[in-house]
Amino acid sequence: MKTSKLPSIKKADFKKIRNDFPLIVNTLVRGKKLIYLNNAATTQKPQVVIDAINNYYEKENSNANRGADYLSEQLTIKCEQTRQKIKLYLNARFTEEIVFTRGTTEAINLVAYSWGFYNLKKGDEIIISEMEHHSNIVPWHIISRLTGAKIRKLAIENDGTIKLDNLKKLLNKNTKLVTIVHVSNVLGTVNNIREICDLAHEQGAYVLTDGAQSSGHMKIDLQELGSDFFTISGHKVYGPTGIGALYIKKEMFDQIHPFHGGGHMIKKVTIEDSNYKDVPDMLEAGTMPLAEIVGLSSALDYVTDIDMENITKWEMELGAYAYDVIRKVRGIKIYGPSLDKKTAIFSFTHDEIHPHDIATVLDYEGIAIRAGHHCTQPLMNRFGIQATARVSLSFYNTKEEIDRFGVALEKAVSFFKK
Ligand code: PLP
Repeated sequence: MKTSKLPSIKKADFKKIRNDFPLIVNTLVRGKKLIYLNNAATTQKPQVVIDAINNYYEKENSNANRGADYLSEQLTIKCEQTRQKIKLYLNARFTEEIVFTRGTTEAINLVAYSWGFYNLKKGDEIIISEMEHHSNIVPWHIISRLTGAKIRKLAIENDGTIKLDNLKKLLNKNTKLVTIVHVSNVLGTVNNIREICDLAHEQGAYVLTDGAQSSGHMKIDLQELGSDFFTISGHKVYGPTGIGALYIKKEMFDQIHPFHGGGHMIKKVTIEDSNYKDVPDMLEAGTMPLAEIVGLSSALDYVTDIDMENITKWEMELGAYAYDVIRKVRGIKIYGPSLDKKTAIFSFTHDEIHPHDIATVLDYEGIAIRAGHHCTQPLMNRFGIQATARVSLSFYNTKEEIDRFGVALEKAVSFFKK
């Protein structure tokens, strides 16, 4: 990503900030200091988030929206404050546009069932890019089978980017949804959501943006992006697992139907029938993951305090450093666009060594990377490969760690080439 206009960072701060992450600074793997380069899978948690969750169970545990007692009231307020924080974090227009979900997978399924199932029919078309995570493909296959709507593939270029002309060719009056990841979890590609929304909206289609890999690494401004649906995953923004959020543009509310049925989401229930509250309550049946909401609240405070622009700038500096280290290793091919069009995620293969073997040797050195298809089999097919090895960085990583990773990668290559 281009970061030239961003404020200058105090590097010393990031050295200090690293100490906020107990798992990062204290973990030894087979006697070696852990180097965690698998941040696209999940991020580690700062002490304040761990403390917030402990504190919740020690002092705050109750059930939100369920009583007139002090604890319940306080917790309900805290949950609503968290919704407000997410609204600010994403620069949404209205707090009620934010729905709590278990994460991005659940958020996309929610859109598929609560919007797609009710609003799509035979002859309608859903455009899905070739770089989507399975969580943004499989729910649409299910909905396609249920409604008869057709899936159309938006092919990607050799450098792992989307050509807007290809989207223009696919869009037509039958297109009802364009569903595209903001940042690819394999290539790091940052897609041009603003322009994608403009093109889709011109044809009367809506846009879902999977923000799982963007929302922890760059500033999100939904009013600027223009998406009709946008997802975030708490565990990729330094918060707990089991919590995330779905943004639904207010103009979509009258097309949205219940997802789960149960407590809290109703206005009135008789044995014969029930009717429902408005969004977001309508979509939050049952007891929500309350400790996780409290943890996410603390994570958003933490990240906001460091300042997302600082985070982006530092991660891109680390990314440029890592890119140089990886590309110097003999036989390595890196997938994805140039650094100015991506985040600090690097997928690579070696012309003779399987990605799983690379990851296994690195693990012996205490270095955690990911190898596999990354839940993106169509993308793997696009490049004619089964799997890649993937390094994904966070602001708590250091150049020293990347150097150690480079040495270990060289060692892995010479080990297998013997
Ligand atoms: N979309 C992308 C691009 C992802 O990288 C992931 C997880 O890796 C998901 C969706 C699934 O997110 P969650 O774990 O919140 O369900």
